[in-house]
Amino acid sequence: MDTGVTPRIDATRLWQSLMDLAQIGATPKGGVRRLALTDDDRQGRDLVARWCREAGLEVRIDEVGNMFARRAGRDPQARAVATGSHIDTQPSGGKFDGNYGVLAGLEVMRTLDDLGIETRAPLEVVVWTNEEGSRFTPVMMGSGAFAGLFSPDFVHAQKDRAGISVGDELQRIGYRGTQPCGAVPGGMFAAYFEAHIEQGPVLEAQGLPIGIVSGALGQQWYDVTVTGMDAHAGPTPMELRRDAMLAAARMVEAVNRIALGEAPHGRGTVGFVQVQPNSRNVIPGCVQFSVDFRNPSQDGLDRMDAAMHAQFTRIASDGKVAVEIRQVVKFEPCLFDSACVAGVRRAAQALGLPHMDVVSGAGHDAVYVAGVAPAGMIFVPCKDGISHNEIEDALPEHIAAGANVLLLAMLERAQ
Ligand SMILES: [Zn+2]
Repeated sequence: MDTGVTPRIDATRLWQSLMDLAQIGATPKGGVRRLALTDDDRQGRDLVARWCREAGLEVRIDEVGNMFARRAGRDPQARAVATGSHIDTQPSGGKFDGNYGVLAGLEVMRTLDDLGIETRAPLEVVVWTNEEGSRFTPVMMGSGAFAGLFSPDFVHAQKDRAGISVGDELQRIGYRGTQPCGAVPGGMFAAYFEAHIEQGPVLEAQGLPIGIVSGALGQQWYDVTVTGMDAHAGPTPMELRRDAMLAAARMVEAVNRIALGEAPHGRGTVGFVQVQPNSRNVIPGCVQFSVDFRNPSQDGLDRMDAAMHAQFTRIASDGKVAVEIRQVVKFEPCLFDSACVAGVRRAAQALGLPHMDVVSGAGHDAVYVAGVAPAGMIFVPCKDGISHNEIEDALPEHIAAGANVLLLAMLERAQ
């Protein structure tokens, strides 16, 4: 850096901001319930916007409610170096998921002000609308719209279970902005960095404070229907049954084996099962279940897909049942920008922070932003790897470490 001294964020101030924001929608068990576009979300946004303005940042809102706060640079023509995440939570969410990325970004701005550091390029903190997808689908709605995957009209038309639309709620809480979605003054971000808790157990198990995220697993989700024949559990001999549940159970095993065959990053999960008629003394005639496959490469996802089709077909024919497999969701594997990843690694090294390369198993706003701007992510450990839970927790020193990495990575890119 200019002074020869590595700048550091104010760890106490960052922690206090996290705790203050967590008061809005606080739950008795120490978590946060702040669903997208509710009154609590408005209050959270208002607080973050106030903090941003107090830090001298210029706040803009786009037409899907994404909030951008800009710190001017010396070169007004330069494209901004951005960071951010989300402040909406799951119904029983925690204090850190998303909130950390936003407030670490704000802390970077506050630190630069304290140290009187000007950057060549402008810096921005972004709060993306409805990352969680809990009240409104699809997930990562704001960043997806920013990246051009969803039109603003599509976003506005999405409704919650009560039939209330995103467009109306944005209007009601005062966050339906005028900036065209996807537009950035001066041109698309030169780079985007997102700090986030890992939401998994790897960093904690390794005893490392920093994960350098090389990319995110691709995902393919399926709905599977197995059809056999309902029959009486007593009079029907074992060899004459067409038991949809038995076949489905063997398919669940197959999903697990297929994922184990793609170690270390392959994932296979059956999380939803519905049995018909779901009666103690009836052989199940129909079972519907979900399959969630994840893999860092498309080749890997293709292998998993092919293995599933082959094995399910064999299991079905052995069990004299029919199987229908329908793919319902697909997220391409994401490889973050090599220069952004290298920048995060250099920052961790400059700070002397032990680190490892990781692949994100979950989706994040950065994955969508990576489609339109060079992007990278920084992970910090969370307690027992637990997230989307009120007991989600993280250590202050890890929270500070990730924000310091963010500070150096952004500074290097903006000088
Ligand atoms: Zn998140």
